[in-house]
Amino acid sequence: MPESSGKSVPLHLEYRHPVGSDLELSGYLCLRCESNLDINQPEAEVPDRLLGVCSDCGSWYLIDIDPETESDIVVMRIPDAQELRDAISSTKSKAKTRADKA
Ligand SMILES: [Zn+2]
Repeated sequence: MPESSGKSVPLHLEYRHPVGSDLELSGYLCLRCESNLDINQPEAEVPDRLLGVCSDCGSWYLIDIDPETESDIVVMRIPDAQELRDAISSTKSKAKTRADKA
């Protein structure tokens, strides 16, 4: 198999699904501190994929809205820099252990 330039790492993602319509009306809430998220729409032509940023704790969220129903919403927290680096380094140390055994 040709080696791709992208690598992959297993991650645990916190999410909220389904999102109640009451939450949707009052604004999306941070899973960590329950503050309201500042919502950004990175792509003007894709209104069902949003980024949310918590102004209190700084967490980032991907908000995915089913374009068919507009009520099936997933709010998923994007791992922060430290979590990403921890996940990558734990994958590297596992790979090293496997190579040592072989
Ligand atoms: Zn927060």
